[in-house]
Amino acid sequence: MNKVIIGADIGGTTIKLGFINMEGDILHKWQIPTKTANNGASIITDIWESVLTNLSEQNLRKEAVLGIGIGAPGFINSETGLVYEAINIGWKNVDLAKELQNMSGLPVFVQNDANIAALGENWIGAGNHSFNMIAVTLGTGVGGGVIVNGSILNGENGMAGEIGHIKVDPNGIPCNCGGIGCLETICSATGIARQGMDAVTLNTRSNLASYYNKTGNISAKDILELAKSGDETCLHIVQHTTNILGMALANMASLNNPSKIIIGGGVSKAGTFLLDYITDSFKRHAIPKISETCEIKLAQLGNDAGMIGGAYLVKKNVG
Ligand SMILES: [Zn+2]
Repeated sequence: MNKVIIGADIGGTTIKLGFINMEGDILHKWQIPTKTANNGASIITDIWESVLTNLSEQNLRKEAVLGIGIGAPGFINSETGLVYEAINIGWKNVDLAKELQNMSGLPVFVQNDANIAALGENWIGAGNHSFNMIAVTLGTGVGGGVIVNGSILNGENGMAGEIGHIKVDPNGIPCNCGGIGCLETICSATGIARQGMDAVTLNTRSNLASYYNKTGNISAKDILELAKSGDETCLHIVQHTTNILGMALANMASLNNPSKIIIGGGVSKAGTFLLDYITDSFKRHAIPKISETCEIKLAQLGNDAGMIGGAYLVKKNVG
Protein backbone atom coordinates (compact mmCIF):
# COMPACT_ATOMS: atom_id res chain seq x y z
CA MET A 1 0.00 0.00 0.00
CA ASN A 2 1.29 3.48 -0.88
CA LYS A 3 1.76 5.43 2.29
CA VAL A 4 0.27 8.88 2.76
CA ILE A 5 1.45 11.54 5.19
CA ILE A 6 -0.73 14.23 6.72
CA GLY A 7 0.91 17.65 6.74
CA ALA A 8 -0.66 20.53 8.63
CA ASP A 9 0.16 24.15 9.27
CA ILE A 10 -1.77 26.03 11.94
CA GLY A 11 -2.00 29.75 11.26
CA GLY A 12 -3.80 32.58 13.03
CA THR A 13 -6.81 32.51 10.70
CA THR A 14 -6.64 29.21 8.78
CA ILE A 15 -5.24 25.72 9.21
CA LYS A 16 -3.76 24.35 6.01
CA LEU A 17 -3.87 20.59 5.61
CA GLY A 18 -2.72 18.14 2.98
CA PHE A 19 -2.23 14.49 2.07
CA ILE A 20 1.32 14.16 0.80
CA ASN A 21 3.20 11.21 -0.66
CA MET A 22 6.73 10.05 0.21
CA GLU A 23 8.16 12.16 -2.64
CA GLY A 24 6.67 15.38 -1.27
CA ASP A 25 3.87 15.67 -3.85
CA ILE A 26 0.60 17.08 -2.54
CA LEU A 27 -2.15 14.59 -3.42
CA HIS A 28 -4.96 16.63 -1.91
CA LYS A 29 -5.07 19.83 0.13
CA TRP A 30 -7.68 21.88 1.90
CA GLN A 31 -8.04 24.37 4.70
CA ILE A 32 -10.27 25.00 7.69
CA PRO A 33 -10.73 28.14 9.79
CA THR A 34 -8.70 28.42 13.00
CA LYS A 35 -11.30 28.73 15.75
CA THR A 36 -9.61 30.81 18.40
CA ALA A 37 -12.68 30.98 20.70
CA ASN A 38 -12.13 29.53 24.23
CA ASN A 39 -8.36 29.88 23.82
CA GLY A 40 -8.38 27.66 20.74
CA ALA A 41 -9.83 24.72 22.69
CA SER A 42 -11.47 23.07 19.64
CA ILE A 43 -8.50 23.37 17.23
CA ILE A 44 -7.07 19.86 17.72
CA THR A 45 -10.49 18.19 17.42
CA ASP A 46 -11.30 20.34 14.37
CA ILE A 47 -8.09 19.15 12.68
CA TRP A 48 -8.68 15.46 13.29
CA GLU A 49 -12.37 15.58 12.31
CA SER A 50 -11.56 17.35 9.06
CA VAL A 51 -8.79 14.81 8.35
CA LEU A 52 -11.27 11.94 8.82
CA THR A 53 -13.79 13.62 6.49
CA ASN A 54 -11.15 14.20 3.81
CA LEU A 55 -9.71 10.68 4.10
CA SER A 56 -13.13 9.28 3.44
CA GLU A 57 -13.83 11.71 0.57
CA GLN A 58 -10.52 10.72 -1.05
CA ASN A 59 -11.20 6.99 -0.51
CA LEU A 60 -8.15 6.67 1.69
CA ARG A 61 -8.01 4.41 4.71
CA LYS A 62 -6.50 5.51 7.99
CA GLU A 63 -4.18 2.47 7.76
CA ALA A 64 -2.51 4.13 4.75
CA VAL A 65 -1.44 7.11 6.87
CA LEU A 66 2.14 7.06 8.11
CA GLY A 67 1.77 9.92 10.56
CA ILE A 68 1.01 13.58 11.07
CA GLY A 69 3.56 16.40 10.83
CA ILE A 70 2.33 19.71 12.06
CA GLY A 71 3.55 23.28 12.32
CA ALA A 72 2.17 25.73 14.85
CA PRO A 73 2.91 29.36 15.62
CA GLY A 74 4.65 30.46 18.79
CA PHE A 75 7.17 28.92 21.11
CA ILE A 76 7.32 25.13 20.87
CA ASN A 77 9.36 22.29 22.31
CA SER A 78 9.73 20.13 19.22
CA GLU A 79 11.15 17.18 21.22
CA THR A 80 7.88 16.78 23.13
CA GLY A 81 5.47 18.60 20.82
CA LEU A 82 4.40 20.93 23.62
CA VAL A 83 3.32 24.42 22.58
CA TYR A 84 4.46 26.72 25.40
CA GLU A 85 2.65 29.72 24.06
CA ALA A 86 0.97 30.68 20.80
CA ILE A 87 -0.60 34.08 21.37
CA ASN A 88 -2.32 34.28 17.93
CA ILE A 89 -4.43 31.20 18.59
CA GLY A 90 -4.83 31.54 22.36
CA TRP A 91 -2.75 28.50 23.35
CA LYS A 92 -0.70 28.23 26.50
CA ASN A 93 1.00 24.94 27.46
CA VAL A 94 -0.98 22.87 24.96
CA ASP A 95 0.35 19.34 24.53
CA LEU A 96 -0.34 19.31 20.77
CA ALA A 97 1.61 16.14 19.87
CA LYS A 98 0.23 14.05 22.73
CA GLU A 99 -3.39 15.18 22.34
CA LEU A 100 -3.46 14.64 18.56
CA GLN A 101 -1.65 11.32 18.95
CA ASN A 102 -4.23 10.11 21.51
CA MET A 103 -7.07 11.25 19.26
CA SER A 104 -5.73 9.77 16.01
CA GLY A 105 -3.64 6.80 17.13
CA LEU A 106 -0.96 8.03 14.72
CA PRO A 107 2.57 9.29 15.38
CA VAL A 108 2.59 13.10 15.53
CA PHE A 109 5.58 15.42 15.09
CA VAL A 110 5.49 19.13 15.82
CA GLN A 111 7.74 22.05 14.93
CA ASN A 112 7.18 25.80 14.96
CA ASP A 113 5.80 27.20 11.72
CA ALA A 114 9.07 28.81 10.58
CA ASN A 115 11.14 25.67 11.18
CA ILE A 116 8.63 23.46 9.41
CA ALA A 117 8.54 25.82 6.40
CA ALA A 118 12.36 25.66 6.30
CA LEU A 119 12.20 21.85 6.22
CA GLY A 120 9.64 21.93 3.40
CA GLU A 121 11.72 24.37 1.33
CA ASN A 122 14.83 22.28 1.91
CA TRP A 123 13.09 19.06 0.86
CA ILE A 124 11.46 20.00 -2.45
CA GLY A 125 11.66 23.83 -2.62
CA ALA A 126 14.43 26.39 -2.96
CA GLY A 127 16.75 24.67 -0.47
CA ASN A 128 17.46 21.64 -2.67
CA HIS A 129 18.75 19.45 0.20
CA SER A 130 21.18 22.02 1.55
CA PHE A 131 23.32 20.68 4.35
CA ASN A 132 23.55 24.12 5.91
CA MET A 133 20.80 26.62 5.27
CA ILE A 134 18.91 29.57 6.75
CA ALA A 135 15.25 30.29 5.95
CA VAL A 136 13.64 33.59 6.88
CA THR A 137 9.93 34.33 6.73
CA LEU A 138 9.06 38.01 6.43
CA GLY A 139 5.38 38.26 7.35
CA THR A 140 3.45 39.96 10.14
CA GLY A 141 6.47 38.95 12.20
CA VAL A 142 9.87 37.59 11.19
CA GLY A 143 10.35 33.83 11.55
CA GLY A 144 13.45 31.78 10.99
CA GLY A 145 14.58 28.21 10.55
CA VAL A 146 18.21 27.15 10.58
CA ILE A 147 19.53 23.88 9.18
CA VAL A 148 22.91 22.75 10.48
CA ASN A 149 24.65 19.60 9.26
CA GLY A 150 21.41 18.45 7.63
CA SER A 151 19.13 18.85 10.66
CA ILE A 152 16.90 21.65 11.85
CA LEU A 153 18.46 23.47 14.78
CA ASN A 154 16.14 23.25 17.79
CA GLY A 155 18.37 24.12 20.72
CA GLU A 156 17.87 23.33 24.38
CA ASN A 157 14.13 24.03 24.52
CA GLY A 158 13.10 24.64 20.93
CA MET A 159 13.99 28.31 20.76
CA ALA A 160 16.93 28.17 18.31
CA GLY A 161 16.64 30.04 15.04
CA GLU A 162 14.33 32.78 16.33
CA ILE A 163 15.90 35.16 13.84
CA GLY A 164 13.14 37.74 14.32
CA HIS A 165 14.33 38.47 17.84
CA ILE A 166 17.96 39.12 17.08
CA LYS A 167 18.68 42.58 18.49
CA VAL A 168 19.62 45.06 15.81
CA ASP A 169 19.02 48.38 17.60
CA PRO A 170 19.68 48.77 21.34
CA ASN A 171 17.71 52.04 21.26
CA GLY A 172 14.95 50.63 19.10
CA ILE A 173 11.24 50.21 19.61
CA PRO A 174 9.56 47.57 21.81
CA CYS A 175 8.90 44.11 20.31
CA ASN A 176 6.08 41.60 21.00
CA CYS A 177 8.61 39.38 22.77
CA GLY A 178 9.16 41.96 25.50
CA GLY A 179 12.56 43.00 24.13
CA ILE A 180 13.65 46.16 22.35
CA GLY A 181 15.00 46.73 18.83
CA CYS A 182 14.45 43.19 17.49
CA LEU A 183 14.89 42.50 13.75
CA GLU A 184 11.13 41.93 13.59
CA THR A 185 10.40 45.53 14.63
CA ILE A 186 12.04 46.72 11.39
CA CYS A 187 11.91 43.94 8.77
CA SER A 188 8.42 42.48 9.23
CA ALA A 189 5.45 43.78 7.21
CA THR A 190 4.38 45.50 10.43
CA GLY A 191 7.83 47.07 10.85
CA ILE A 192 7.96 48.31 7.25
CA ALA A 193 4.47 49.85 7.55
CA ARG A 194 5.50 51.53 10.82
CA GLN A 195 8.56 53.04 9.12
CA GLY A 196 6.16 54.39 6.48
CA MET A 197 4.01 56.06 9.13
CA ASP A 198 7.10 57.52 10.82
CA ALA A 199 8.20 58.98 7.48
CA VAL A 200 4.77 60.52 6.92
CA THR A 201 4.91 62.21 10.35
CA LEU A 202 8.43 63.42 9.69
CA ASN A 203 7.73 64.91 6.27
CA THR A 204 4.11 65.85 5.66
CA ARG A 205 4.97 67.13 2.17
CA SER A 206 6.33 63.84 0.79
CA ASN A 207 4.57 61.81 -1.90
CA LEU A 208 4.07 59.11 0.71
CA ALA A 209 2.26 61.60 2.96
CA SER A 210 -0.12 62.57 0.16
CA TYR A 211 -0.62 58.85 -0.62
CA TYR A 212 -1.53 58.35 3.04
CA ASN A 213 -3.90 61.31 3.03
CA LYS A 214 -5.67 59.80 0.00
CA THR A 215 -5.90 56.19 1.18
CA GLY A 216 -5.93 56.56 4.99
CA ASN A 217 -3.53 53.64 5.37
CA ILE A 218 -0.03 52.51 4.42
CA SER A 219 0.90 48.84 4.17
CA ALA A 220 4.28 47.20 3.60
CA LYS A 221 3.03 46.23 0.14
CA ASP A 222 2.27 49.90 -0.68
CA ILE A 223 5.76 50.93 0.41
CA LEU A 224 7.47 48.21 -1.62
CA GLU A 225 5.42 49.05 -4.72
CA LEU A 226 6.06 52.79 -4.38
CA ALA A 227 9.77 52.08 -3.88
CA LYS A 228 9.78 50.00 -7.06
CA SER A 229 8.28 52.91 -8.96
CA GLY A 230 11.07 55.16 -7.67
CA ASP A 231 9.48 57.01 -4.72
CA GLU A 232 12.41 58.38 -2.74
CA THR A 233 10.96 58.06 0.78
CA CYS A 234 9.93 54.45 0.18
CA LEU A 235 13.24 53.59 -1.46
CA HIS A 236 14.95 54.90 1.64
CA ILE A 237 12.78 52.62 3.82
CA VAL A 238 13.62 49.62 1.62
CA GLN A 239 17.33 50.46 1.79
CA HIS A 240 17.25 50.78 5.58
CA THR A 241 15.21 47.58 6.01
CA THR A 242 17.39 45.48 3.72
CA ASN A 243 20.58 46.94 5.19
CA ILE A 244 19.52 45.75 8.65
CA LEU A 245 18.25 42.39 7.33
CA GLY A 246 21.41 41.72 5.34
CA MET A 247 23.51 42.53 8.39
CA ALA A 248 21.48 40.18 10.63
CA LEU A 249 21.72 37.42 8.00
CA ALA A 250 25.49 37.93 7.71
CA ASN A 251 25.75 37.54 11.49
CA MET A 252 23.61 34.40 11.39
CA ALA A 253 25.70 33.05 8.53
CA SER A 254 28.82 33.36 10.67
CA LEU A 255 27.31 30.60 12.81
CA ASN A 256 26.40 27.96 10.25
CA ASN A 257 28.18 29.01 7.02
CA PRO A 258 25.10 28.24 4.85
CA SER A 259 25.07 27.36 1.16
CA LYS A 260 21.63 28.99 0.83
CA ILE A 261 19.56 31.66 2.54
CA ILE A 262 15.90 31.47 1.58
CA ILE A 263 13.60 34.46 1.87
CA GLY A 264 9.87 33.75 2.13
CA GLY A 265 6.66 35.21 3.57
CA GLY A 266 4.30 37.92 2.32
CA VAL A 267 6.98 40.65 2.10
CA SER A 268 9.09 38.44 -0.22
CA LYS A 269 6.37 38.80 -2.88
CA ALA A 270 8.23 42.00 -3.82
CA GLY A 271 10.47 39.47 -5.61
CA THR A 272 13.87 40.12 -7.16
CA PHE A 273 13.60 43.86 -6.43
CA LEU A 274 13.85 43.09 -2.71
CA LEU A 275 16.19 40.14 -3.17
CA ASP A 276 18.80 42.28 -4.97
CA TYR A 277 18.89 44.77 -2.08
CA ILE A 278 19.15 41.97 0.51
CA THR A 279 21.93 40.26 -1.46
CA ASP A 280 23.89 43.54 -1.77
CA SER A 281 23.61 44.18 1.94
CA PHE A 282 24.53 40.59 2.84
CA LYS A 283 27.65 40.81 0.68
CA ARG A 284 28.67 44.08 2.34
CA HIS A 285 28.28 42.63 5.84
CA ALA A 286 29.35 39.00 5.53
CA ILE A 287 32.88 37.60 5.60
CA PRO A 288 33.77 37.15 1.88
CA LYS A 289 34.57 33.44 2.37
CA ILE A 290 30.99 33.03 3.64
CA SER A 291 29.19 35.18 1.04
CA GLU A 292 31.14 33.57 -1.84
CA THR A 293 29.56 30.19 -1.15
CA CYS A 294 26.11 31.41 -0.14
CA GLU A 295 23.24 31.95 -2.54
CA ILE A 296 20.26 34.08 -1.47
CA LYS A 297 17.03 32.83 -3.05
CA LEU A 298 13.29 33.41 -2.87
CA ALA A 299 11.21 30.64 -1.31
CA GLN A 300 9.36 28.49 -3.85
CA LEU A 301 6.59 26.65 -2.04
CA GLY A 302 4.53 29.62 -0.82
CA ASN A 303 1.79 28.67 1.62
CA ASP A 304 2.40 24.95 1.07
CA ALA A 305 5.89 24.99 2.63
CA GLY A 306 4.56 24.25 6.12
CA MET A 307 2.46 21.19 5.26
CA ILE A 308 5.23 19.80 3.04
CA GLY A 309 7.74 20.32 5.86
CA GLY A 310 5.31 18.51 8.17
CA ALA A 311 5.31 15.55 5.79
CA TYR A 312 9.11 15.62 5.71
CA LEU A 313 9.24 15.43 9.52
CA VAL A 314 7.10 12.27 9.46
CA LYS A 315 9.08 10.70 6.60
CA LYS A 316 12.34 11.39 8.41
CA ASN A 317 11.13 9.97 11.72
CA VAL A 318 9.05 6.96 10.69
CA GLY A 319 9.43 6.62 6.90
ZN1 LIG B 1 11.53 40.44 19.84
